[in-house]
Amino acid sequence: MKKATRQHTHNHNTQLVLKTIYDQPSISRADIARLTRLTRPTVSAIVAELMQEKLVLETGLGPSAGGKPPMLLNIDADAHRLLCVDLGSQEFRGALLNLQGEITRRAHFPTGDRRGEAALQLVYELLDELVLDGPGPVLGIGIGAPGLINPEEGLIHRAVNLGWEELPLGEQLEERYQLPVYVTNDSHLAALGEYTYGEGRAGDNLIVIRIGQGIGAGIVLGGQLYHGDGFTAGEIGHVVVSDQGERCRCGNLGCLETVAGTRALLAAARAAGVAEDWPALVEAVAAGDERARNIVAEAGCYLGVVIANLIGAFSIYHIILSGRVDQLGDVFLQAAYAEAMRRALPAMVSRTTLEYSRLGRDIVILGASALILQQELGII
Ligand SMILES: [Zn+2]
Repeated sequence: MKKATRQHTHNHNTQLVLKTIYDQPSISRADIARLTRLTRPTVSAIVAELMQEKLVLETGLGPSAGGKPPMLLNIDADAHRLLCVDLGSQEFRGALLNLQGEITRRAHFPTGDRRGEAALQLVYELLDELVLDGPGPVLGIGIGAPGLINPEEGLIHRAVNLGWEELPLGEQLEERYQLPVYVTNDSHLAALGEYTYGEGRAGDNLIVIRIGQGIGAGIVLGGQLYHGDGFTAGEIGHVVVSDQGERCRCGNLGCLETVAGTRALLAAARAAGVAEDWPALVEAVAAGDERARNIVAEAGCYLGVVIANLIGAFSIYHIILSGRVDQLGDVFLQAAYAEAMRRALPAMVSRTTLEYSRLGRDIVILGASALILQQELGII
């Protein structure tokens, strides 16, 4: 996406009023004036504008404080839609959301072994199906994709699993759909999703670690998504953690992904004759199978090594795991936590928490919706 965001609300005061309305369950014009320190006439004029743009609506009379009962305002949540896509798993997952981040429609397309141009065509098919659905204009398109991405340009430098290199996805989608498009790394969006809709409100900083076949982290610092120099913050999956590790798709030996990703867990379970597929591994762990639990705990330990380093580097209390490893329950979580505690400076970890996200598989889609709201309306 281009540097200048196409905000509907270019005016600072308009943005302030909209954010104040968004942050409250419902609010009167007088209370907005009190909270924003804008004058009543200014607030009334801005509210009239926002109602015309169908971003705000009147929801009924509130309790009287002595005189005339005030008219309450709320976000007109269903008047616009946010079109969000997660390209980071084995199927492309898309959804339409309203302005409150509630999913109103979904579409899932299995990717099979599509790569390159075929994978791009599948993205078009998914967006085509969703963009025409339902009433109200689409405010923007948010895409979470795996790999190295420049979010300012919507450029995918490299997404190995999808066979994309130097793909100007944002530009191509803007041209095709004539809408603002935001493309960001999926793990980064997961962190923004958690910060906006999950446990993130507990503080201004958090780390979300996404564990699938690959492993990546998203970092929110001071309420802002941190991309890092080169936009590759959180690329922890290719940190080497095991000298005896296998060859990784990046070329190195023993990357975190090769010992703690879901593919690695499954390979270890198969080699030990514990389980042939993921559901069987989950079942074996839940049933208390000692060998299955050892395999999972060992993977958790490797993750704990990297978590200790993240704690050392960032001093962040809230660390959240996301992905289907959550089906492995406490065995994985506790192993990672214990190892991280063992390796980090004790004074730094007394308040550190490690838990699974409660946003489930929608975490990237929710993050994409938060990004559109942030960039287009300035309300996240
Ligand atoms: Zn690697």
